[in-house]
Amino acid sequence: MNDAPVEIVVRAENVERVYGSGENSVYALRGVSFEAPGGAFIALKGRSGSGKTTLINCIGGLDKPTSGKVYLFGQPINDYDEAQMTELRRHKIGFVFQSFSLVPTFTAFENVELSLRLAGAPAKERARRAQECLDLVGVGKWARHMPFELSGGQQQRVAIARALANSPRLILADEPTGELDSHTARQVLGLLRDLSHQQNVTVIMATHDPLSLEYADQVFELKDGKLDAVHVRQSA
Ligand code: ADP
Ligand code: MG
Repeated sequence: MNDAPVEIVVRAENVERVYGSGENSVYALRGVSFEAPGGAFIALKGRSGSGKTTLINCIGGLDKPTSGKVYLFGQPINDYDEAQMTELRRHKIGFVFQSFSLVPTFTAFENVELSLRLAGAPAKERARRAQECLDLVGVGKWARHMPFELSGGQQQRVAIARALANSPRLILADEPTGELDSHTARQVLGLLRDLSHQQNVTVIMATHDPLSLEYADQVFELKDGKLDAVHVRQSA
């Protein structure tokens, strides 16, 4: 074990997100605070409407808190403009969604390569890294296949390879097992856990899949926009 201080990759300080105004306002997040250390696999659980997606989006800069602060890698991102946010999203954060969101007319390889292209990586490096990421998540031999030729689990692996391509230290996943059967869901959850521990990537995953809780190091429970409880798994 090394004794280096634990890096805090994400810090949320009293994050509130209110949609609409006046009588119609919806309090999606009410004063959420937490810290996510480097290499941790964190599940955000809570029923539908509890604020999971809103929190993921506020952390990833896809949405802005109404008040409160989000720090990524020690920097407050509240005041970032759109260009700075795009830069941060392309280089430092990987996103994984429920519906995989692959480009349907691109091969698996091209989907992963695209995120390297957007980040400005040189062509030769893009090809090497795209294949490396596909291999890492176990779909290397499907590189030349189109998404429709792949199973849901394989497509989600390609999406995870895409999220990893730019070597982010943070992956945000919103219901990544929502469209997978339980056997495949376990494989994807095991993969996310291994990536977080072995590649030192912090993974924050919104989920209402009870299976996820067996894999996460910490479970943050949201209730009506409030962080209700934090459960820490005792490591085996
Ligand atoms: P979850 O992902 O846990 O299902 P969400 O973060 O999607 O929860 O939603 C939290 C609350 O905020 C819900 O009451 C939802 O209806 C509301 N909400 C989410 N997005 C919007 C929006 N763009 N406009 C208005 N209300 C929204
Ligand atoms: Mg959601």
